[in-house]
Amino acid sequence: MLDSQNLGEIDELKSQIQQLKTNEENFQQITENIKEVFFIIDSQTDEICYVSPAYEKVWGRSCKSLYESPQSWLLAIHPDDCSEAMGTLETQFRTGEEFQEEYRIIRPDNSICWVRVRAFPVRNLEEKVDRFVGIAEDITLRKNTETALRQTEEHFRLIFEQASIGIAVTNLSGKFLKVNPAFCQMLAYSEPDLFASTFKNILQVGDDKIHRKIIDRLIQFRQVEDQLEVCCQTKSQEIIDVLLKIVVIYDEFDQPINLQYQLIDITDRKRMEQQLVYDALHDPLTELPNRVLFTDRLMRAIIRCKARNDYCYAVLFLDIDRFKVVNDGLGHLAGDELLILVTKRLLKVLRPIDTIARFGGDEFVILLDEDCDRQTAIQIADKLQCSLDNHFEIEGNRIFVSISIGITLSTNQYERPEDILRDADATMYKAKDKGRARYEVFDESLRAAALNRLKLENELRTGLLQNQFCLFYQPIIDVESLEIKGFEALVRWFHPVHGMVSPSDFIPVAEETGLIIALGEMIFEMACQQLTDWHQEQFDLSHLKLSINLSGKQLMDPHLLGVINRVMSRPNIGSQRIKLEITESILLEQDYQAINVLNNLRESGFEISLDDFGTGYSSLSYLQRLPIDTLKIDRSFIQKIQHDVQNKNLAIVQSIITLSHAIGLNVIAEGVETQEQLDKLATLGCEFVQGYFFSPPVDSVRASEFLRKRIIEM
Ligand code: C2E
Ligand code: MG
Ligand code: MG
Repeated sequence: MLDSQNLGEIDELKSQIQQLKTNEENFQQITENIKEVFFIIDSQTDEICYVSPAYEKVWGRSCKSLYESPQSWLLAIHPDDCSEAMGTLETQFRTGEEFQEEYRIIRPDNSICWVRVRAFPVRNLEEKVDRFVGIAEDITLRKNTETALRQTEEHFRLIFEQASIGIAVTNLSGKFLKVNPAFCQMLAYSEPDLFASTFKNILQVGDDKIHRKIIDRLIQFRQVEDQLEVCCQTKSQEIIDVLLKIVVIYDEFDQPINLQYQLIDITDRKRMEQQLVYDALHDPLTELPNRVLFTDRLMRAIIRCKARNDYCYAVLFLDIDRFKVVNDGLGHLAGDELLILVTKRLLKVLRPIDTIARFGGDEFVILLDEDCDRQTAIQIADKLQCSLDNHFEIEGNRIFVSISIGITLSTNQYERPEDILRDADATMYKAKDKGRARYEVFDESLRAAALNRLKLENELRTGLLQNQFCLFYQPIIDVESLEIKGFEALVRWFHPVHGMVSPSDFIPVAEETGLIIALGEMIFEMACQQLTDWHQEQFDLSHLKLSINLSGKQLMDPHLLGVINRVMSRPNIGSQRIKLEITESILLEQDYQAINVLNNLRESGFEISLDDFGTGYSSLSYLQRLPIDTLKIDRSFIQKIQHDVQNKNLAIVQSIITLSHAIGLNVIAEGVETQEQLDKLATLGCEFVQGYFFSPPVDSVRASEFLRKRIIEM
C-alpha cells in the first residue's frame, strides 16, 4: 500500500520526470533546429558524446558515422589547415582550456566549408575537465566575403599606387591624408613634404579660391564631384596645367568627411591648344598677327570709338613697292627674308599699343590705337617710310625698298572693319598711283570713288545675269593688201541707265571682284558663236583670226582650259581661228604658271598675242622666252611717231619691229588713226594695223559687211 508520503514522492518523481522530458525536448528543439553544430566530447577518450544534427549539413556526413568513428571529424579537415588545427586541439585538450579555431573541411562531395569551432571545458566535482562542450558554425560566407573584400582592397591599393593620374585624399581643411606616387611625381614633392602641407599650397592663388568655392557648393547641395582646369605649382616653382577632379567623400550619416582629388597633367595639351590658337591668329612667316586677329582688334577699336568721344585711331595699309621684282628676281626665299627684315624695321617704329598685321604677300596693315589723330598718323607713316631708307642685305645683294601707305582715320561712322580696310586699301592704291614711296590720307573723294566702285560691282552682277553684254569687232588689216585679216573682239556693256560703258571702266572692277571669270566665259562663248554664224553664212574664214582678250585673272583660273575646251567643242570652228590677247603686265605679275598655261593653249592650236606692248617693263630680250606669236605695239607709241621731231619714238617702234621679226613674231600696230602713221608703219615693215583710221570697233552686222567686202575701202 502506498501511503500518502509515498504518493507525494511519486508525484514529485513524476513531476521531475516530466521536467526532464521537457528539458530534453527543449534541448532537442534547440539542437535540432539551430544551424550551428553542438557537440560534447569526452576529453579523456576523445569520444563524441553528442553531436547535433546540424553536423550532417555542415560536414556533409551522418552523425552516426561520427559516433562510430570520431576521427572522421579530424580527417575531414583540409590538409593545409590540418596541422594547425590539430595542434590547437591537442594543446587545449591537454591544458583543458577553452579554445576557438577556424579551419576548412572537405565534404565528401569535395565542396569546401569554412568552420569556426569553439569549445568550452566542463569540469566535474573534482574540478577536473572531463568533457568539452562546443559549437561549430559554417562561416564560409563570411570568409568568402572577407577574401573578396581583401582582394578588392588590394585591387584598389594597386590602382592607387600605380595610377598614372595623381590621386590625393585630404580632410576638409585640405590637409593631405593620402597621396599616390603619381601625385608626388607630378608636383615633385615627396610624400612627407605633402603630409606636412595642405592642398591649397600647391594651387595658384586665384585657382585656390575657385576650387574652394566649388567644394562649398558641392557640400551645400550634397553633390559628389566636379572638375575644373587649374594651374599647380611644383616644388621647383614650375607651373603645370592640371585637370582637377574633386570628389567629396560623405560618411554614413551623409556628412562630408574627406576630399579626394584626381589630377591629370594637361600642360602639353594646353600648350598645343595655345599653339593652335596662336597659329590661327598669326602669320607663320613674320609671326605678326594675321587678318583674323587684326580684324578682331579693329572691331574693338570701332566699338570703343562709338562709345567714347575722345577716342580716335587710324588704320594704315602698307604695300611694299615692286616687291614682285625682288621675289621673282632673287627667288621666294629672298622675298621671305626681305619680308621678315622689313617687319623688324616697321615694328621698331610702332608703339606697344599699336597692332601690325600681315595680310599676306607684301601687304601689312597697322592699327594705330588710342589718341591717334591725323598728325600722329602722318608722323608715324613718315617714320615707317624712313625706317626703310637704309638698304637691306640679302644673300649678298643690296636691296632698296620703299612702301606706299594708305591712311584712314577713325570716324564714328564706321560700322565694320572691312569698311575701314577697304578705304585704307583704296588710299594705298592712290599713293601707288601717285608714284609710290609715299602716303595718302583717305578723304571723301576716295570714299565716293569707293562707293561708286561698289555700285558698279553690283550692277556688273546684274548685267551678267541679264545679258547686258555684247561684242564689238575691230578689223585688223594687212598693211600691204589692206585686206581684213582678222577682228579683235571687244566687249561692250549696255547699261540700262548709263548706256554703253567702256570696258576700261568695268574690266578692272570685274578683275578685282573675280567677276571676270564669268564675264570672260561669256565673251569667249559669244566670240565663238560669231565665228559659227559667219561659217554658216558661208564666209571664207580661212585667212581670218578672231582675237579675244584674256585677263590675268582668267589666265590664272584653274578652270580656264576646261572652259575653253567646252566652248570649242562646237563644230566648224577650230582653235586656229582664234588668237588670245594677253597684256605684258600679266606675264610680269604672274609667275611661271601663266607661262605654262600659255604653252598649253599654244599646243592646242591657239595663237597668242602680246597686247599693249611697251606699257609694261618687259625688255625686248625678254620676249624671246615668251610663248607668243604676235606682238601688238601699244597705241601710245603709234600716236607719238607722227609728231616726233627727234624720231625717238620712231626709232623705238623700228627696233621693236626689227627684233620681233628677228625672233619670228608678227607685229600689229594698235591705234592707227592717220594715213601718215600707216605710211610710216608700212616703211618700217609692220605687217598689220588696227585703228580708227580704218574703223572703230563695230557691231556684228557692220563686221559682217566688212567681211563681205574683205577690203577696207577708204
Ligand atoms: P585693248 O585690248 O588694247 O583694245 C584696244 C582698245 O583700243 C579698244 O578700246 C579700242 O576701241 C581702242 N582703239 C582702237 N583703235 C583706236 C584708235 O585708233 N585710237 C584710240 N584712241 N583707241 C583705239 P576698248 O574697246 O575701250 O577696250 C579697252 C580695253 O579693255 C582693251 O584694250 C582691253 O584691255 C580691255 N577689253 C576690251 N574688251 C575686252 C574683253 O573682251 N576681255 C578683256 N579681258 N578685256 C577687254
Ligand atoms: Mg586687246
Ligand atoms: Mg591693246
